Amino acid sequence: MTVDYNEAVAWVSGAGSGIGRSLCGALAGRGATVIATDIDREGVEATATVHPNSVLPDCVDVADADAVTASIRDAATDHGRIDLVFNNAGITGPFGEYRFVRTHHWDAILDTNLRGVINGVTAAYPIMVRQRGGHIVNTASAAGLLPIPGAVAYSTTKYAIVGLSRSLRAEAAGYGVGVSVLCPGALETPILDIAPPDDIADEPAFWMPDARKLFRRSTGIKDPDDFAHYALDRIAADVGVIVYGRRARTFARLGRLSPRVTDRVNRLVFASERKGNVDG
Ligand code: NAD
Repeated sequence: MTVDYNEAVAWVSGAGSGIGRSLCGALAGRGATVIATDIDREGVEATATVHPNSVLPDCVDVADADAVTASIRDAATDHGRIDLVFNNAGITGPFGEYRFVRTHHWDAILDTNLRGVINGVTAAYPIMVRQRGGHIVNTASAAGLLPIPGAVAYSTTKYAIVGLSRSLRAEAAGYGVGVSVLCPGALETPILDIAPPDDIADEPAFWMPDARKLFRRSTGIKDPDDFAHYALDRIAADVGVIVYGRRARTFARLGRLSPRVTDRVNRLVFASERKGNVDG
């Protein structure tokens, strides 16, 4: 299960921005050929222009299982094999107090964050089993190891990605296939510009935390390029669950050792953030 990035063939979703773009740059810098995919054609073409010889753009919606399967299959066919698949595309979904969230607000986040990862894993895994090698890397978040009040839907999808990745990791090892899950704290990307769903934004009592302020005070906000290099090193070391950021690691450890203390801290932080916004 060794990972050699030089001359590897990698497929990345959500590559038109943020972490996906940083992963493409880090992979190309280490000698890989990268199939960079995103629902945003302009974004992914912009990613590819920085590394025109090694990053190849493809417009793919991760919620579309057929499109994901075709893109990963074509990458493996065109290049003779597929060494790394990064299921990275994600959105924040409905942020804010859960009392305003309705079931339809879950549709997009389940389709993108959860089904998107399932689609990528299900397309890549049989190919890698046949190859007897390869590595699947799913982007979860520190929110997949710690409950995040105010981000119930997001945290739910990220916990599910951690569960999927760790369960499959044990099964895949027998075929020489690696599975890792990325759990970074906050990183400076456009995903932090969180807006509430249109149909609840006008609710007079609606309240959601100021995400940048909250993250600055909790995990801190780090650089996605630094994270991408750290992630590639940790994938090569095959550590499985890759937590990034000192504070994120501390919180994750605390969450493991004492869920009760974590819940208490969460309750206090959320109550203090919400102060003055409890009517309605
Ligand atoms: P970003 O918004 O910069 O990038 C996300 C990319 O995903 C965008 O290019 C977007 O077009 C693409 N995308 C959205 N829906 C898609 C779909 N249906 N099909 C294909 N592509 C789609 O955000 P980011 O911070 O780079 O986020 C990447 C991943 O990292 C997400 O899964 C996110 O949850 C996770 N993450 C981010 C942070 C952070 O603080 N930035 C922290 C932990 C985890």
